[in-house]
Amino acid sequence: MSGSPPRFAPRPGIFDVEPYVGGEAKLPGVAEPIRLAANENPLGPSPKAVEAYREMSGGLHRYPDGGSSALRRTLAELHGLDPECIVCGNGSDELISLLVRAYAGPGDEVLYSRHGFLMYPIAAKTAGATAVAAPERSLTSDVDALLAHASEKTRLVFLANPNNPTGSYLPDAEVRRLLAGLPEQALLVLDTAYVEYVQAEDYDDGLNLVEETGRVVVTRTFSKIYGLAALRLGWAYAPAEVADVLNRLRGPFNVSLAAQVAAVAALGDREHLRHSAEHNATWRSWFAEQLARLNIRVEPSEGNFVLVPFADAAGAADFLKSRGILVRGMAAYGLPGHLRVTIGTEAEMRAVVAALKDYPQ
Ligand code: PMP
Repeated sequence: MSGSPPRFAPRPGIFDVEPYVGGEAKLPGVAEPIRLAANENPLGPSPKAVEAYREMSGGLHRYPDGGSSALRRTLAELHGLDPECIVCGNGSDELISLLVRAYAGPGDEVLYSRHGFLMYPIAAKTAGATAVAAPERSLTSDVDALLAHASEKTRLVFLANPNNPTGSYLPDAEVRRLLAGLPEQALLVLDTAYVEYVQAEDYDDGLNLVEETGRVVVTRTFSKIYGLAALRLGWAYAPAEVADVLNRLRGPFNVSLAAQVAAVAALGDREHLRHSAEHNATWRSWFAEQLARLNIRVEPSEGNFVLVPFADAAGAADFLKSRGILVRGMAAYGLPGHLRVTIGTEAEMRAVVAALKDYPQ
């Protein structure tokens, strides 16, 4: 905080938080920049979701179903889950915050991996809890390091699998090894925002672990492959006792009707999902190959983005901006020598490669 102390002092920890800054979306002087800074689906949502969204506009004066029942039922049927253990949120960001608010406060620790998603330490600090970062190995979560940093104060462990911004993942066996070594009072949150993009065969979405162990929460989102980031919708699959706690904490109408109806329609369009995953896999490997030809070695990624190293990442970002291209700087993640580039349309990826060919490394 700069300037005079606030008249109304918030709870401890709140001024330790650097507000989350999303990917840049605007570029002065460029009407339609190439937006590769927020890991959105460049193909957009399913046309069925857009149609459902338009149709619901006649009911804007009505409150939504506070329990998101139809959406939870649809998710449960699709994934073979218990609908009572699904909790929907205003983006998975809300669910992350609710989990922290529910289970961690002053004196408690929230453990995460050094280059893990930024909302974990932010949520921990806003709840007055201590965020503990375990170091990584080769930009990948390190189970031994996480276990070494767990303590009797650890209440929550956040693991993004695959992780944003590194794109790395832990195989099923490693997630199980982590779980087996964590102290009993620690709840493991597997944030699987990018699950639909994963191709690695030793990966598991973790949903089975929820019922199997009773100490895992899995979160997912409609912001990525479903292309519905604007509507703000995520969901958690949690042990019944955790779902009950989240339902007590969340706002009574935390998910808009627009989000609920669009998501149900999106879930019915498996072809759009398949096409989006295929597009991502194709252009992610094309992009990596093209950069390799320019002697730029990108980190292997299971997500819809890649982490690209630069001698001067800030200079490279500025150069890309001069070509109308927005990517994400990584200094806030402790990776000042990298930029994160979302996999866009074919034309967008070709434009990035063409620009980098002109960029003197
Ligand atoms: N988890 C991870 C790993 C993410 O990258 C993001 C989005 N950047 C989120 C959660 C939050 O997504 P949303 O709130 O849009 O569901």
